[in-house]
Amino acid sequence: MLDRRRFIGSMAAFATTLLTRLRASAAVKQKGTLPSRGELVLRNAYVMTMDPEVGEIPGGDVHIRNGVIVAVGKGLKAPGAAVLNGQRMIVLPGLVDTHWHMWNTLLRSFAGERPNQGYFPLTTAFGKIMTPDDMYHGVRLAAAEALHSGVTTVHDFCHNARSRAHAEADIRALQEAGLRARWSYGWPQGLADTQISNMADVEGLHRDWANFSNDGLLSMGFAWRGMFRNTSLPPEVYRSEFDIARRLGIPISAHVGSSEEARGQIAAHAKENLLGKDVQIVHAVSASPVEIEMLAKAGSPVSVSPGTEMRIGYGFPKVGEFLAAGVRLGVSVDNTVLGGDANLFGLLKTIRNIENAKSHDEFKMSARRALELGTIEGARSLGIEDRVGSLKPGKRADVIMISTAHLNMGVFTDPAHMLVESAQAENVDTVIVDGRVLKRGGRLTSLSVDRVLEDAQGSLDAMRKRANWT
Ligand SMILES: [Zn+2]
Repeated sequence: MLDRRRFIGSMAAFATTLLTRLRASAAVKQKGTLPSRGELVLRNAYVMTMDPEVGEIPGGDVHIRNGVIVAVGKGLKAPGAAVLNGQRMIVLPGLVDTHWHMWNTLLRSFAGERPNQGYFPLTTAFGKIMTPDDMYHGVRLAAAEALHSGVTTVHDFCHNARSRAHAEADIRALQEAGLRARWSYGWPQGLADTQISNMADVEGLHRDWANFSNDGLLSMGFAWRGMFRNTSLPPEVYRSEFDIARRLGIPISAHVGSSEEARGQIAAHAKENLLGKDVQIVHAVSASPVEIEMLAKAGSPVSVSPGTEMRIGYGFPKVGEFLAAGVRLGVSVDNTVLGGDANLFGLLKTIRNIENAKSHDEFKMSARRALELGTIEGARSLGIEDRVGSLKPGKRADVIMISTAHLNMGVFTDPAHMLVESAQAENVDTVIVDGRVLKRGGRLTSLSVDRVLEDAQGSLDAMRKRANWT
């Protein structure tokens, strides 16, 4: 009798252990929905390596193993590798975005026609009532669109980290999407200019970053308000924030000289020694020739977002001037509240057209130069050009394939011109990030578009009620 009871007891304990293990493995499986890396070869495509030595390879191959590019060339031997047919495809390094408030993609095309419904009142009102779940749904919508559009690296400028939970929800959406990203902690919407950001949370996240880095795909930065936001910030606010981020050794990013009216802001930062290789300046539309020299001398990279800068009336980006001065330059989506979509090819087209228009010169900026801004130059401006931005053996495998078998891409002429002048997100056939195929045959492989859209709509509908915003 005793033996039997003991036997039943041990069986029950065994069953409990088994159940726990099953639950644990289900949880792991649910969390790790990303495809495995494996071995691939992209065959017989028009390969634009964006590497000045290798150049372009018509009928070229790219061989990828365990997340790394092992070879680029013609007729590569890759026995056992899965073959991705590159016929009628252009192969390019994944596009690099350098500043994007991904959370507010939940408010896409929502900025109204009157001042009280404009971008800032809208994003502040909604930003203030967002839950961690809302953040997650906004960032996941943005991340899904990034992959859909061939953007493999983003700089997620999260200026709505209302709590550690909000920050973690934002990061989780990036992890699950499998994107490469710099994630920058930013002040919560509505924070008074006289109040310091929650630097304890910045330090905490930095300390725990190994848990968030997703195998090195995600790095951490600090989204700083700079010396000016709505008003001039007190030095005890901007200085302490800057000093803490510097001490942690994480890159800093700030909107400075955003509009033509914001003249002198860059010089003010230079005077206080608040520029540097680790300080990315966003917009810089008001930069004077002297200020452009200051940026170049300090090594501060600049991010321009012509789509939103023009839509909001900031002015035209000074791309030609920055490049001539040797400033490291990246292109950015900024936000889709004003910009609408995240088609980076469209932004490159805009940049080139502005340059040509301003200089009354059909040949001022070449399509290839524009493509460099969206790939290798963007990577350089984020300090990750040793890993991504061009197709070269040893680099991480962030690669996209653009199909030319579409009405807006026919006929095949000059691939660089076709990409900059014609390409849409729908033409992006395949997206590989760190060796993982995340879009194939025009469809995302790890995210359900229906689910992403449904959850985002649910979040926005509930927020509109809470905000009493019609
Ligand atoms: Zn911005």
